[in-house]
Amino acid sequence: MPKYLYRASSAPHLEECPKFRPKPFDESDDTKRGTEIHNLTWECLLGNDVSGDPDCEEITESAEWVLSFTAEHAPGADIYCERKGPCSKCGTVPTPRTNTLEDGRTVHVWGDECDKCGTHLPGYSVVTDPNTFEPVTGGTTDVYAVGEKRVVVIDLKSGFDFNVEGHYHRPQTVTYGLAIMEQYGKTEALIAERYVLPKQKRYYMVTLEEARNEVFGLVAKVRDPNARARRCNYCGYCADILACPAVDTRQKVLSECFDQADDIDTRTLREPETIEDPEEMSAALTFSTVTMTAYIKRLLEVQKNVKVAALAMHDSGKEIPHFKKKTRRGSRVITDSQAAVEYATNAGVGAEDIAALAKVPLGKLQDMLYSAMKPNDSAVTKKSIQEMVDEDLGDIIVRQSDSAWMERG
Ligand code: SF4
Repeated sequence: MPKYLYRASSAPHLEECPKFRPKPFDESDDTKRGTEIHNLTWECLLGNDVSGDPDCEEITESAEWVLSFTAEHAPGADIYCERKGPCSKCGTVPTPRTNTLEDGRTVHVWGDECDKCGTHLPGYSVVTDPNTFEPVTGGTTDVYAVGEKRVVVIDLKSGFDFNVEGHYHRPQTVTYGLAIMEQYGKTEALIAERYVLPKQKRYYMVTLEEARNEVFGLVAKVRDPNARARRCNYCGYCADILACPAVDTRQKVLSECFDQADDIDTRTLREPETIEDPEEMSAALTFSTVTMTAYIKRLLEVQKNVKVAALAMHDSGKEIPHFKKKTRRGSRVITDSQAAVEYATNAGVGAEDIAALAKVPLGKLQDMLYSAMKPNDSAVTKKSIQEMVDEDLGDIIVRQSDSAWMERG
């Protein structure tokens, strides 16, 4: 596997923050389903039946679009899907599966693993530094075809949360375009992003020179020894978030917690006032009240355990760098509140101050009265106790400010 400076799939993230590092594994349900959709599209292009899949209509349409788009812009050219380079372990050049179409073109589809030793294969689209001849970036281009004049590059996206304004894949796709142009000696690339489920697409044309400027502009930013981390929309996907100086603690905790939020857009959780759809608000509220509460409890538990272990280590005679043991004497409390009230009253403290001194939970007092009076008077009810207390102690009962919240039910 070439040792890239960065993978092409990280290019959009690096455009926002030159210190971005992808998390090693993304095993979310969306990612798994995205891989399935890609694989089913290849099956379709190979002429195999995908009708058993719930999204077969969108997948079939997407595959047909790949055929017509490449036929229009690279007439007669073969179609290469997920082309892989030679195995980095045994050097075997992988053999694709193929399907020859009625119009004479052949579709080639590569697998992920080496036929001989099973090693994960590197992508074929590699961009090399013209000065050092080292690979700097690259990956696996979903689809390409090489026409007389230009190369056609297609990047398939499943498009679960399609938002054409919110998706910025150009730095990734231009990298593939540059790699394929250089590989085949072409000077123009027509690049298309195809969003399978929403059946959407977007295109742009890029020349060899423009692609080199864009890709090597980013390479320079990433190589810059003075580059600094810049908080961005991708922090939640960054492997360095917990140690990043550009991100505050609250975001770090949220990011960890958001890793568990598979089915909601975590960006809206950061800006809940932008949610307009009640269904989406319900999902956000469920996440905030159930998942986050459980997560906070877990965090507090971790915090408590570390504090207890650190205190025990200190007390066993070991110094803990940057920390000192602090002690606070326990507060002294009076156990007989009646005696305290009488004492203060006799000393001239006013009734209002006395009430503040002796805040009694009303519900608890009513429960106590009920338990004391009920055995002697069967007519006593919780309601009669409440009325009695209101009448006798109305002057000293104060209602605290009301509060309101949303509860699941
Ligand atoms: S967590 Fe830090 S390094 Fe990672 S993307 Fe955000 S700002 Fe950049």
